[in-house]
Amino acid sequence: MKRIAILGSTGSIGTQALDVIRQHPDRFEAHTLTAGSNATLLIEQAREFRPDAVVIADESRYAEVRDALTDLPIKVYAGSEAICQVAAADSVDMVLAAMVGFAGLRPAVSALQAGKALALANKETLVVAGDVMTRLVCENHCALLPVDSEHSAIFQCLNGESHNCIEKILLTASGGPFRKFSDEEMHHVTAAEALRHPNWQMGAKITIDSATMMNKGFEMIEACWLFGLKPQQVQVVVQPESIIHSAVQFEDGAVIAQLGTPDMRLPIQYALSYPHRLPLQAPRLDLFQLGTLHFEPANVKRFPCLALAYEAMQRGGTAPCALNAANEVANLAFRQEHISYLDIARIIEQTIERAPMITAPTLDDYFQCDAEARRIANELL
Ligand code: NDP
Repeated sequence: MKRIAILGSTGSIGTQALDVIRQHPDRFEAHTLTAGSNATLLIEQAREFRPDAVVIADESRYAEVRDALTDLPIKVYAGSEAICQVAAADSVDMVLAAMVGFAGLRPAVSALQAGKALALANKETLVVAGDVMTRLVCENHCALLPVDSEHSAIFQCLNGESHNCIEKILLTASGGPFRKFSDEEMHHVTAAEALRHPNWQMGAKITIDSATMMNKGFEMIEACWLFGLKPQQVQVVVQPESIIHSAVQFEDGAVIAQLGTPDMRLPIQYALSYPHRLPLQAPRLDLFQLGTLHFEPANVKRFPCLALAYEAMQRGGTAPCALNAANEVANLAFRQEHISYLDIARIIEQTIERAPMITAPTLDDYFQCDAEARRIANELL
């Protein structure tokens, strides 16, 4: 029985992880559940899964959660610090990092410092502080298991290949809802349109990141840290059907890909059960029904956020941290209809130009850089 702390259990990844656990109650225990402010769903999940502890980050919702669970032997905590503490608790075997954005960095670091196996969905943690995170993985002998579908695909393609040289990664992308829009049409796209992803049902922030292709830029950075690659070894391939989840090209030219229907439960389950595969009740891939797959290069002129991510990773140091902070500010401002779609890339670019650059940052430097980049981005708004 693996005791799992799900950080962000009320989100898109969190709820799908609970569905995986529901299918394998003999193997996985939802030991800890944490949420931001959605007390109602957290209470419902706690009553179904009977975890050891729950945490609500929003302290104003603490009494509501505590009062609703008084008849059960479940510990109830509140606040960000409590999330870090439960992520490091002795009784936890694995932490699923499924919070969104920079807010997940401290809990992820806390889990790694305590030597936990980390199933990582919260890609922003690697974008911001990939060097600190990977160093902690090595120092504390932690398993770092990718949950992002592309990185899970790459991880699966690399099974048994640890001594072989990767030439490049083919990082697949759906291209998002605006793949075929003209430059003129891009001036008028709305948040409501951007929130309608063609293939995946995800949280609001990552859905907007997919529409700008910043998500693919983040995934390139994530791939560099996870698999020890240079940015130029990661090639984005637009594959609109989202059937090929990514591929690895080895030095002999062989290309190994992982395919499946677009369903996050598979990569989530693989991270939880690795190195084993378990049955999963989910739709199967039907190649005859699918018929054809399409491929095209990414259009960095249309999607400048992708180019900004490559530039930030090339610069290194705190540049990807500033990229992430500015993106979080701009992404939210676009969802709240304070800025246009095209403003997102402009704000990020100008923030990176103005943010102070530290070439060999510590974890504290990342926190300072994040705060300063947010201040600059908010000023630019
Ligand atoms: P959601 O917005 O759906 O869920 C985020 C979760 O984090 C919720 O449980 C939310 O709580 C919680 N949360 C948000 N802010 C805080 C905070 N400040 N403190 C504590 N908890 C917080 O996001 P997703 O599930 O879509 O994405 C999660 C991560 O996984 C992201 O990094 C994303 O990039 C990555 N990812 C997601 C995929 C997907 O298919 N959704 C695919 C691949 C990667 P509450 O509900 O209370 O707000």
